[in-house]
Amino acid sequence: MKRYQLHIDGQYRAPKSGAWFETQNPFTGETWAEIPRGDEQDVDLAVQAAHRALTTGPWAEMTATQRGALMRKLGDLIAQEATSLAETEVRDNGKLFAEMHGQLNYLPQWFYYYGGLADKIEGSTLPLDKKGYFAFTRHEPVGVVVAITPWNSPLLLLAWKLAPALAAGCTVVVKPSEFTSASTLEFAALFEKAGFPPGVFNVVTGFGAEVGTALVEHPLVAKISFTGSDATGRIINEKAARLLKHTSMELGGKSPNVVFEDADLEQAVFGAISGIFAATGQTCIAGSRLLVQRSIHDEFVKRLLEVARSARMGDPMSADTQVGPVTTPPQFKKVLDYIDVAKKEGATVVLGGKKGTAPECGNGWFVEPTIFTGVRNDMRIAQEEVFGPVLSIISFEDEADALRIANDVRFGLAAAVWTTDIGRAIRMSEKLQAGTVWVNTYRAVSFMAPFGGYKDSGLGRENGIEAVKAFLQTKSVWINTGAVASNPFVMR
Ligand code: NAD
Repeated sequence: MKRYQLHIDGQYRAPKSGAWFETQNPFTGETWAEIPRGDEQDVDLAVQAAHRALTTGPWAEMTATQRGALMRKLGDLIAQEATSLAETEVRDNGKLFAEMHGQLNYLPQWFYYYGGLADKIEGSTLPLDKKGYFAFTRHEPVGVVVAITPWNSPLLLLAWKLAPALAAGCTVVVKPSEFTSASTLEFAALFEKAGFPPGVFNVVTGFGAEVGTALVEHPLVAKISFTGSDATGRIINEKAARLLKHTSMELGGKSPNVVFEDADLEQAVFGAISGIFAATGQTCIAGSRLLVQRSIHDEFVKRLLEVARSARMGDPMSADTQVGPVTTPPQFKKVLDYIDVAKKEGATVVLGGKKGTAPECGNGWFVEPTIFTGVRNDMRIAQEEVFGPVLSIISFEDEADALRIANDVRFGLAAAVWTTDIGRAIRMSEKLQAGTVWVNTYRAVSFMAPFGGYKDSGLGRENGIEAVKAFLQTKSVWINTGAVASNPFVMR
């Protein structure tokens, strides 16, 4: 059994508590590694190291161009290690190797893109209303950043924070999810190989209430960049507000995937399926509410079922598997509980609805791909985030009805529209309350496209050029070029 170490100040080291906890493989249910149980002493060491690296030494002295070069080197190293990091993620979170391998191969792009941006962060000169001064702005790193990540895509979601933070010149302490910490601990080794000075990137693993709380409350931490549930996001944001720390919040979703009668139905079926069954529905952008125009409802459901029925559950490492296990035992229970809730609310199960017991599911935490019809938008199954392979189908009459239902939810992370009418596509994209709207596609993301939530889905944006601003603070510098100092007791 593998025993991991914390990564603090450029070194792997044991947790101060001397305690480790077990991490399981969701496909076999077996413990495969031990993760260090960090506590507030490790948090203090890591934050102190990050603060030292921020304020003194080579990272603080480096030009932005040198920082960018290090980031590009890191990107190259990630590309070399993509397969082994993807295997670790699959062992720990049970998602399909095909998906995690794709993610890891894509990951270097974040470090290339933001590495290129590092030396293009420019201030401006100010055309002041006062004579005798020259004034300009500088954009400086906000400080030590804490990144807190969830279990569904540990390294991808970390890169969304880390790459712009490094470009801005910040230093980082990350706390990965207690369910999927291994890949982040392995990833840390690449930092020293790339030549980053010690303390720029630190990993403290452990539990939210211990390590997470200590990080959020540490006085030397300037910013918390969080991805996870809205319940945890609220707790962190409340504390951060009290302590006057910056935050970014990437939270949950209950995204509407809207299919009009004029859509290319074959494409829309694929979009609906990848929207909810990819990643076993454990994705913040899951298209968990499928809104189908009443005139095509029955035909669409028939076609959807034909494809969804063929989904193969099984070993996530196998190229033939299409739906893997749920990542954690509490999540497995939660998904099955929601299926019961939906049944009690009067929704009709037309596919799945049980735990996966086929031989190829082994001892894994599988839930069958599940589809409910007859869902009303006021049911809990239509309003609450399940984070599993459970699709709710809701019918609508016309465009106005579709918009009303789509927006009638407290989340606003993503939405999609399937139509061949360009006018309708544009009208819908203008009025859907979501940070990302897809037209005739689903689940597309890029390092170039800003991503984040409307409403309860979060605060701030990741990806794209604007993401770097979340890790900067602006300073105005005034230089006297001839303004005459006047009597300070006489107001000018
Ligand atoms: P979670 O909120 O339970 O945990 C997220 C992280 O927060 C973990 O590392 C956890 O240990 C930590 N944490 C828990 N309590 C804490 C506390 N009091 N203080 C500090 N840290 C604490 O979320 P999860 O179950 O790991 O992930 C699933 C959720 O993440 C879903 O709601 C999903 O929609 C959301 N998510 C959002 C995005 C996005 O980009 N918007 C992406 C992926 C997942």
